[in-house]
Amino acid sequence: MSQSHSSPKFYTEALPLRGTPLDMLPGIRRIVANNPGPMTYHGTNTYLLDTGTGCIVVDPGPDDPVHIAAIHAATAGRIDAILLTHSHIDHVAGLPSLRGTIPVHAYFAPQEPDIAPDVPMRDGDTLAGWTAIHTPGHAGDHLCFARADGVVLSGDHIMGWSTTVVSPPHGDMAAYFASLDRMLTTGGHTYLPGHGPAITDPAAFTTALRGHRLAREAAILSALAAPMPIDALTQAVYVGLAPNLLQAAQRNVLSHLQKLLAEGRVEQVAGLWRPIR
Ligand SMILES: [Zn+2]
Repeated sequence: MSQSHSSPKFYTEALPLRGTPLDMLPGIRRIVANNPGPMTYHGTNTYLLDTGTGCIVVDPGPDDPVHIAAIHAATAGRIDAILLTHSHIDHVAGLPSLRGTIPVHAYFAPQEPDIAPDVPMRDGDTLAGWTAIHTPGHAGDHLCFARADGVVLSGDHIMGWSTTVVSPPHGDMAAYFASLDRMLTTGGHTYLPGHGPAITDPAAFTTALRGHRLAREAAILSALAAPMPIDALTQAVYVGLAPNLLQAAQRNVLSHLQKLLAEGRVEQVAGLWRPIR
């Protein structure tokens, strides 16, 4: 989703070693699951947070026995809690295999009832020094987690390798903008995202993401000078996008249109979107 002259400067990293925890920061390790793809980069990041007495696992990842075994091996069976950033399948499919009697902490109203948490969290709730920040946009039940020293687990809300997909109905573009602003006021010096490497300039990067979305919104409004259906609009504003990303791009365009519709700036007539002047 990065085809634009206004793109932020994205981060890349080499293919990580599978099944091996990588040290990210003191007391924070990461295992990258083996589910690479156009939406997941090298795979889902499962974070292991040392608590002194044990470990908190953030996002179990896919239901891959090799990955679950790697989590067990790296934590030596001392998992105090499981924390979820949101209920998308690439983050929670492995939860039933991992959870057993381990308490699961996640947003109090998950989008997927199958992964109902044992300990429902709301904005401002804390676990072992990590404070939940409700950040809907990519997903309605998305939480980031901030620590007082400036480290933030940013989930799929803010990722360094790519922009995030905002796909209705769970995705909401107006909420996404508000949640970007929320993170800018939260601060922090390092974001650890749900996919890809750490973000070490989060304020500048988040500001660039915001600008990128505003530019996309402006491009949509400009393209609609000629009223058109959403598929043509997507082609018009995502010029040269790889075919395997077009469907996700169209979901982003739909969420932009829903935001603009709610703001009274566009309307849909006979299948064609057009601006309201
Ligand atoms: Zn997600």
